[in-house]
Amino acid sequence: MSEQALELDDVSVEFRQGRRRLRAVSGVSLRLERRRTLAVVGESGSGKSTLARGMTGLVPLSGGTVRVLGKEFRRPRREQRRHIQLVFQDPCSSLDPSATIRNSLAEPLVVHERLSKKDSERRVAELLRDVGLPADAAERYPHEFSGGQRQRVAIARAIATKPDVLVLDEAVSALDVSTQNQILELLGQLQREHGLAYVFISHNLGVVRWIADETVVMYLGHVVETGPAERVHVAPAHPYTQALVSAMPVADPTARRGRRGPLTGEPPDQTEAHRGCVFAGRCPIADETCHTTPPPLVAIAGGGTAACHQVTGSADIHEGGTP
Ligand code: SF4
Repeated sequence: MSEQALELDDVSVEFRQGRRRLRAVSGVSLRLERRRTLAVVGESGSGKSTLARGMTGLVPLSGGTVRVLGKEFRRPRREQRRHIQLVFQDPCSSLDPSATIRNSLAEPLVVHERLSKKDSERRVAELLRDVGLPADAAERYPHEFSGGQRQRVAIARAIATKPDVLVLDEAVSALDVSTQNQILELLGQLQREHGLAYVFISHNLGVVRWIADETVVMYLGHVVETGPAERVHVAPAHPYTQALVSAMPVADPTARRGRRGPLTGEPPDQTEAHRGCVFAGRCPIADETCHTTPPPLVAIAGGGTAACHQVTGSADIHEGGTP
């Protein structure tokens, strides 16, 4: 039987904006097995980063449940938070500029693991080795490293407590292509060695295709498509996913033939209620029904689900979807 590292059921996150409520994430459900990578993609404002913060306990959920290896948590709790860790796009946000790398890495070991000084020093040396940094990196400060090296330190800090799930929020987006590849290789190696499950949050479908097993596409806080990463890339079913794929650069311009054009316009205000499909205002094939009736998620050929009246499926799933 497969072991679920992470299970989200009907997760929602809301914020107050003056007297109005902004629903950043609406009823998201997903499953992730150990040693697997699930990508969450979408434009800025799609809710993917808020979902990352919700599942790691950095923002409170307004509804739904998060379970890591079967253990549920709704509010941030220290002993559960150590099982699911977040790596940010900017590694500086998790590293104290005035602390040596040794102190930055030792902090979670002392707080969560209550290791002795000697044991934490041994573990810091192990962590540096695991992420491919030399032992003398321990005595240096974050500003002495390149962007790629700092991201290695941030990954070392995230795996210090031996979590089951790493949530990587645009973790390679700020790096040049060659450094990106090195960090992706490192992540692959850590996954094989430590059995980690990854949630890989990205706006870059090209990167996702190569590293993810499954992809979830979000628009305006809703899941609009799920499926095997390769299928979502080569045969996107939802018009929004098709627009994202269309916007990707291609070496061969003839490969664009038959594709829909890239998206125009901006997503609507998230404080507004939607009667129909959340994508109706920007969808090139929307009809009257789209503006009045929300589409259910249906299972589709090739694996996964899509929420679109124009996609013919074999069965209704439910709001939020479960890859
Ligand atoms: S349900 Fe309608 S508006 Fe929504 S994606 Fe499908 S065709 Fe477009």
